[in-house]
Amino acid sequence: DVVVHWFKCDLRTKDNKSLHLASEKAKEKGVPLIAMYIVSPQDFEAHLTAPVRVDFILRTLEVLKSDLAKLDIPLYVETVEKRKKVPERILELLGEWGASHIFATVEYEVDELRREASLVRACLERGIAMDVVPDTCVVSPGELTSGTGRQYSVYTPWFRAWVAYLHDHPDQLDLFDEPGKNPEGARKKYAKLFESKIPSAPENKKLTEEEKKRFRSMWPPGEHEAHERLEKFCDARIVNYSDHRNFPAKSATSSLSVHLASGTLSSRTCIRTARDRNNTKKLNSGNQGIQTWISEVAWRDFYKHILAHWPYVCMNTPFKPEYTNIDWEYNDEHFKAWCEGRTGYPIVDAAMRQLNHCGYMHNRCRMIVGSFLAKHLLLDWRMGERYFMEHLIDGDFASNNGGWGFSASTGVDPQPYFRIFNPLLQSEKFDANGEYIRKWVPELEGIKGNAIHDPYGRGKGNEAKKKGYPERIVDHKESRDRALSRYKAGIGRE
Ligand code: FAD
Repeated sequence: DVVVHWFKCDLRTKDNKSLHLASEKAKEKGVPLIAMYIVSPQDFEAHLTAPVRVDFILRTLEVLKSDLAKLDIPLYVETVEKRKKVPERILELLGEWGASHIFATVEYEVDELRREASLVRACLERGIAMDVVPDTCVVSPGELTSGTGRQYSVYTPWFRAWVAYLHDHPDQLDLFDEPGKNPEGARKKYAKLFESKIPSAPENKKLTEEEKKRFRSMWPPGEHEAHERLEKFCDARIVNYSDHRNFPAKSATSSLSVHLASGTLSSRTCIRTARDRNNTKKLNSGNQGIQTWISEVAWRDFYKHILAHWPYVCMNTPFKPEYTNIDWEYNDEHFKAWCEGRTGYPIVDAAMRQLNHCGYMHNRCRMIVGSFLAKHLLLDWRMGERYFMEHLIDGDFASNNGGWGFSASTGVDPQPYFRIFNPLLQSEKFDANGEYIRKWVPELEGIKGNAIHDPYGRGKGNEAKKKGYPERIVDHKESRDRALSRYKAGIGRE
């Protein structure tokens, strides 16, 4: 008999509820715990997982494997080409190992929920217990309902309820211990499982040698790194977070999204750690920086609650169905210019180049480029959503879909459609001295003063032209007017 933990989006040993419960169950039964991870190339494909993210996951598995081995727990890793075959293969493995109980963390995307539901049924038929443990969010979907018993669709009242829930249930922030050591003999008995190798990335998700070097130096894998980052952030930057977080040239945010998306860090750990740095146990009181950061981590929960309650957002459908029939433009040139950071709007171009270079983009810039794609270029926001998933190391369906819905005004609790970011004003406000632009758009490095925000208008364009920086591909006023009329005409259209 053995107990199994199936790792998915929870690649850590610390504060991992499902892994903890699996370990406790194994202890109670006096049997070993086996950990498993299934690599499904077709899943990477279906989820548009960025190569940089695949690489991060595979590198993280190495860390996890070695941490678990110290506890005499094998991490068995196998590649199953077709995603449909994953449950079948898991059942075979459970049979081979003689498992009586399997644990896994719940994922709220539709395909994953369906897969787990069928696996739970198939396990039951074979007399195997399966626990799918809610642990992705700080407060699980379904726990918070409005006065009328409905799911909230506006962040502010939802956040109030989220805070109140955690004040009423402080134990929800308690730490789950790491798993205990496997019984003696497990190492010998499961020697083959200890030997299983972590595969390299599937062919279509491989990084080039240059990319490997670049991304690997930026994004060290694993939970130890995540904890170190969290501690450093809480020691030095969290108290100024609310004042500085909107300025992309400052390293004022935590850069923990990659760890939250891969589960190398638990969102519960984030909230608990931030709370313990405050001078109060209240999540909405004390230091402003800490409060604001907690409310940002809560946005991640909010979008997962939306996904769990309105699963149609998973199906290429806007949260607001009345925004389905906006008459988008079809312009490959414009899309290409946006992707490459060659729109002639320096703040937009800097942001897209940061994404392409780092697999990451600052939140303020995500909003700017999102609004620019959907409103200035009037391109279907789903093209941007897709491009982000294909390039982000922190690509997370719920947050990405939510962020795009916000920026394009088609999503839950969005920016109203008539609120169109003016890229010039955004640039002047959030990158006042052009530091971020100069870093990412080297053609503009030599441009002095506030011409950096508008090199052709204010700067007469000589310097920019010489360096090959493009002129604006669309005019701000014209495209703003076009977006307003096109959205107005499209909303509610059958
Ligand atoms: P911090 O400011 O330190 O925030 C801490 C954590 O809170 C983040 O790591 C993240 O997990 C969470 N968080 C913060 N802001 C948000 C938010 N607006 N929505 C949801 N969670 C939030 N975030 C992703 O993790 N994956 C995505 O694929 C993603 N796509 C986005 C697309 C668009 C168009 C927009 C506007 C936002 C998107 N975000 C996404 C949210 C946000 O931009 C990133 O979480 C943030 O920039 C990550 O940097 P950080 O870790 O330094 O964040």
